[in-house]
Amino acid sequence: EAKEAGRNRICLFSEQRQRAINSRTSLLQDLRQALQERELMLYYQPQFLPSGELCAAEALLRWQNPSGGFVTPGEFIPLAEETGLIVPIGEWVLEMACRHLCALEDFALPEGFSISVNISPRQFSDPGFLDKVRDALATYGAPAQRLKLELTESSLFQDMAHATRVLGELRAVGLGIELDDFGTGYSSLSCLKSLPLDALKLDGSLVRDIAGDARDSAIVRAVIAMAKTLSLQVIAEGVETQEQRAFLAHEGCDRLQGFLMARPMPFEHFCALLEPASQCRRIDGAADQT
Ligand code: C2E
Ligand code: MG
Ligand code: MG
Ligand code: MG
Repeated sequence: EAKEAGRNRICLFSEQRQRAINSRTSLLQDLRQALQERELMLYYQPQFLPSGELCAAEALLRWQNPSGGFVTPGEFIPLAEETGLIVPIGEWVLEMACRHLCALEDFALPEGFSISVNISPRQFSDPGFLDKVRDALATYGAPAQRLKLELTESSLFQDMAHATRVLGELRAVGLGIELDDFGTGYSSLSCLKSLPLDALKLDGSLVRDIAGDARDSAIVRAVIAMAKTLSLQVIAEGVETQEQRAFLAHEGCDRLQGFLMARPMPFEHFCALLEPASQCRRIDGAADQT
């Protein structure tokens, strides 16, 4: 009887396993198709100065099925990364962001405005990566200094020599480099010192408890102070409460991003937050006449 139960358990296990494999395979097929059939979209989540002015945005991938449902990046980015499909997807993201940057030239953008694009480890180690970035910028005539790349430790600290060379080239083109998800990995401080970075992005998990937990607030305060010493900007993601916002602003965080201020939104909605350039010119003109 015990033997039979055991066998059933094994049977159940392999059925579950098979189902998991099947659903991965079909997710992967759907994702390949999504890329071809234009079901992918770039949403934008605004970033703000502590004073409250919009100053930048992060591009975030969205996948909308024909049935209308959304698949979140958490569900498909890891699979895309594992299978290498992230390389063509990432290329599409870069091109779309450059297209959008070009379209944004019709607006009166805040000084120093930039868009940040997430780059996965597989993409970063792809030998064609640098050329793809340069091509995307050139094809759409997007200004390089308005494009920032968000990289994670897993991209940078695996092969420091490679990372240093690629980052050097990217910066020579004019791009900014931001270290994403800071505080979730094993960031070695010496690596931080030697890599040419422009900003650290505090992970939402670090931001979550700063208002309630003395240890968390001490860590964030120290990280911000360290970043300043290294001339790195600090961006906080996952800002959800006024308390968090006030704390981060007080500690000298440079940019804030989170549901408290704005959620990721379609590009058209993001544009609606900006002043059209023509309107700006009209206001300037009116001012000139007085
Ligand atoms: P991430 O780069 O750390 O992006 C920040 C995530 O936090 C986004 O999730 C954003 O919607 C979410 N978020 C922002 N503010 C808040 C908040 O106040 N509270 C909470 N709870 N969450 C907040 P999303 O859009 O689901 O993206 C998840 C991850 O997927 C990203 O994390 C990034 O690692 C990856 N990803 C997204 N788009 C791309 C892409 O185009 N390429 C690559 N390679 N990865 C991407
Ligand atoms: Mg990011
Ligand atoms: Mg992040
Ligand atoms: Mg994160």
